[in-house]
Amino acid sequence: MANPFGFLKYKRIDNPYRPVEERINDWEELQTPLSEEARIEQAARCMNCGIPFCHSGVFYGGKRAVAGCPNDNLIPEWNDLVYRGEFKKAFERLARTNPLPEMTGRVCPAPCEKSCTEALNGAGVAIHDNERFIIDTAFDNDWVEATGYPVERTNFKVAIVGSGPAGLSAAWRLNQLGHTVTIFERSDRFGGLLMYGIPNMKLDKDVIERRIEVMKKVGINFVANTEIGIDITAEELYTAFDRVIIASGASVPRDLNIPGRQLQGVRFAVDYLTETTKNVLRHGKDKVNQVLAGKHVVVIGGGDTGNDCIGTAVRQGAARVTQLEITPQLPEHRGDANPWPEYPMVNRLGYGQEEANFVQDTMLTEFSTSTTSFIGAERGQLIAIETVKVGPNFQPIEGTEKTIKADLVLLAMGFTGAEQSLFEQFDVKEILDDYTTDNERVYVAGDAKRGPSLVIWAIREGRLAAERVDTSLRALVAQ
Ligand SMILES: Cc1cc2nc3c(=O)[nH]c(=O)nc-3n(C[C@H](O)[C@H](O)[C@H](O)COP(=O)(O)OP(=O)(O)OC[C@H]3O[C@@H](n4cnc5c(N)ncnc54)[C@H](O)[C@@H]3O)c2cc1C
Ligand code: SF4
Repeated sequence: MANPFGFLKYKRIDNPYRPVEERINDWEELQTPLSEEARIEQAARCMNCGIPFCHSGVFYGGKRAVAGCPNDNLIPEWNDLVYRGEFKKAFERLARTNPLPEMTGRVCPAPCEKSCTEALNGAGVAIHDNERFIIDTAFDNDWVEATGYPVERTNFKVAIVGSGPAGLSAAWRLNQLGHTVTIFERSDRFGGLLMYGIPNMKLDKDVIERRIEVMKKVGINFVANTEIGIDITAEELYTAFDRVIIASGASVPRDLNIPGRQLQGVRFAVDYLTETTKNVLRHGKDKVNQVLAGKHVVVIGGGDTGNDCIGTAVRQGAARVTQLEITPQLPEHRGDANPWPEYPMVNRLGYGQEEANFVQDTMLTEFSTSTTSFIGAERGQLIAIETVKVGPNFQPIEGTEKTIKADLVLLAMGFTGAEQSLFEQFDVKEILDDYTTDNERVYVAGDAKRGPSLVIWAIREGRLAAERVDTSLRALVAQ
């Protein structure tokens, strides 16, 4: 195991964020990797703790939350290999459980680090950045492609609906297991929310393209601009493939049906983020286009998506950004009901919030605040919103009404679930825990199964669904 005293010798250092004043002028990634030597020191901080909660993935809160890596990544093992400079072996160990570590090494909220034994009394090991180092080193040295090929090909064909992390993960694993895989994607590019959702500064789109290229080389087929259920029917897919995995995401956004909802200027966050990424891909990531100069932007929702909207609006030169969150502000420190190794429910400043606070001198986030109406001008253009403070049960508090100027409102209140029409076409009424459904040829993985979640959950579910499909196909051969 890595240096047992490394955590006493070396301080935790994260991949540094570029200065706010620099990074808000482009769409390049937020963080700069540490040197190889510094990374070895960071890996040395993994202390041979005996019971590594970081990779245990223990459920709590009625199975709603997990402490440690949801994907059972073999963290202490690859930390040790990085510490020893055995980078190729570290990659092979990481690749055993995670087919897409370049995504999680950039965007995972790293529950593993919060349950690290060293986090009990210190800062925790920089696991997330170690993961990114391992996979980026693997790509730099051309080690990735070799791990994607099957030992032998079967005659089975599997279709995957959706190219988000769940679909990509399932495809990678099925291909390794020898099956011929085709991914169908309704969008013009592959990656799901990795491509259109998460902004470029958090996850550079070249990183996704790089993975797709390797996937094509190892034999996975990709079909874009094709919506299953419309361009190709469920029945057509059945006829052509032995199994289907639905990995279509949970794309139905939560709406806010209050007076004025139809006004121009009230938009869903993902539509806005998608449009922005398309422009970045078209015009380049080295400079920003200040299309929101002089505009007042209100972001409704305090989660990851809201934060991404704030960072995006800041780069587009918004005159003022306000964020509204209906729940109260979280505490600064863990409460007694939220002990280690659980994920700490504490107040955090996202990168976008930090950037907005830097460029504007007014308060960014208003907590315990509900929006009651959108106000428009005569031509139907949004000009303001009305809000009210709410109490513990979200009841409005009289006398706290307020009007906020707004040219653009972004609804970032999460998603209600998957689009149901696809399940209807495939005659799926029940999805079981093991990714199977009441239709024996159809499996479901990722957000389409579990509802809006995290990239690492989608990766895990894609991989495990692939293994279920493999078992069912091999059983056919045995019959
Ligand atoms: C703005 C935003 C920021 C986020 N940031 C983070 C983050 O920092 N960290 C993190 O861990 N998670 C983050 N998430 C959540 C994460 O992106 C999702 O949990 C994850 O992408 C789900 O993966 P998936 O493969 O299940 O679905 P998706 O990524 O949603 O992919 C589904 C794909 O299926 C396609 N599709 C749907 N229906 C059809 C059809 N009928 N035919 C063909 N194709 C179809 C869609 O076009 C889409 O490409 C974020 C989400 C959003 C919206
Ligand atoms: S995927 Fe996330 S939780 Fe798992 S090891 Fe990587 S950063 Fe940690």
